[in-house]
Amino acid sequence: MRTFPIFVSVERKPPLVTGGGELAAIKTRLLLKRAEIVHVAAGELGPETAELERAGRVALIPARPGVDQIRGRPLVIAATGDDDEDARVAAIARALGVPVNVPDKPALCSFVMPAIVDRGEVTVAIGTEGTSPVLAQRLRAWLERELHPRLDALARLAGDFRDAVADKLPAGRARRKFWEGVFDGAASEAALAGEDAEARRLMGEAIEAAVKAETAQGRVLLVGAGPGDPELLTLKAVRALKAADVILYDRLAGTGVLEHARREVELIPVGKSKGDHSLPQCKIQELMIERARAGQTVVRLKGGDPLVFGRAGEELAALRDAGIEVEIMPGITAGLAAAASLQIPLTHRDISHSVTFVSGHEAGGEEPSFDHLDLAALGKGESTLLVYMGVSTAGVIASGLIEAGWNAACPVIAVENASREHERRVATTLAELAADPERLQLNRPAILIFGEVAGLPAAGLVEDVLSSPEVRRAYA
Ligand code: SAH
Repeated sequence: MRTFPIFVSVERKPPLVTGGGELAAIKTRLLLKRAEIVHVAAGELGPETAELERAGRVALIPARPGVDQIRGRPLVIAATGDDDEDARVAAIARALGVPVNVPDKPALCSFVMPAIVDRGEVTVAIGTEGTSPVLAQRLRAWLERELHPRLDALARLAGDFRDAVADKLPAGRARRKFWEGVFDGAASEAALAGEDAEARRLMGEAIEAAVKAETAQGRVLLVGAGPGDPELLTLKAVRALKAADVILYDRLAGTGVLEHARREVELIPVGKSKGDHSLPQCKIQELMIERARAGQTVVRLKGGDPLVFGRAGEELAALRDAGIEVEIMPGITAGLAAAASLQIPLTHRDISHSVTFVSGHEAGGEEPSFDHLDLAALGKGESTLLVYMGVSTAGVIASGLIEAGWNAACPVIAVENASREHERRVATTLAELAADPERLQLNRPAILIFGEVAGLPAAGLVEDVLSSPEVRRAYA
């Protein structure tokens, strides 16, 4: 027989068992696990059923029930043991569309009874399509051992709070997450341990916490920390630092900047300097999302401006996908801070008409190259290049520019630690840099400015690393 498992309501009309003997009594007892009352059609009742009748759980109706007694029942079990009578009842039930079972007579049945693991509100029903009752029994025994004996208390707890949770938490992710948390959490433990009052108290707490987390979803502020000098922070950035519950900061965001944060703030360094990614990008994103979902105001503090070589694109995409509110507070990018400190313009009506931000980083690897950039196009006309993350590839980019037709005598100036303590400036030319990049002895972080503007008079001390006459002559 092919069957489909369902749970049938026995609430409205009582199920019917025919027969007053032992077999009928067993089936009656089984039905009473769920049914409030069972109707038994029999001439007389055995001692057990008679006892149940006295207790009000069984109502006796005349033997040999007809159409009217069978119509509308949720189910009928024909267990008189008299084959003809059982077949008669089964025929009526089938004609009326009432589910019927005749023990050990599959041909007469329209439903079969599963092996059952009963934990009150939780029922596990096992069927084998009649292939192996013994296998079903073994599974039942195994489940009996595996399932906590007080599983019903847990189900009741969930049932009691179901409406309250539905009222307070929106359907879908929030509600599902809440229930997942409940079954893994303290309230469940208490319920299973038989501490019902404690379990209910913990449920109340859990609902409150979930509602709070749901309504007070946090947000993420991508904040530019500027080049390092705290005075170069924007007022908005300072306000964001004061509002933060947690700050995820890059190594480039200076310590002076962090002084503006609240004392109780949680500070998480997420690394980011060449070769030192203390936290992988995807983990940083996960962390931001997790904290914002927990209702926190998360500041992602980045050196300079967050939208310049800061992987903000990836972070924004992840936050948007997660449905988290984001705000961006710009900062002074290192190239502009370097120019300000040198007091040289990046554009000049006579010698430079555009500024390009270039990353020296993608050129990394065994044999760095700048093939991905059209250096000739960058050098057409009069323009300035600001090279970030270029300390290790400065020589390569200088050679590339010369090959692309830039004037080998074009000035270059590098600024180490712009706007910070130990700021250092070094002036050279494309030719010098291409020939011997090590001569600059640059420490990170440093920005390089390529272009005629780099040769304008600069304020303050500038080291000059113009080299030997031979090198000069080679490029003359
Ligand atoms: N978002 C940052 C750039 C991050 S990429 C900004 O807008 O400034 C990191 C690079 O920035 C470093 O390799 C270096 O080239 C540059 N940089 C950052 N701070 C610097 C500083 N104080 N002085 C010089 N260069 C700096």
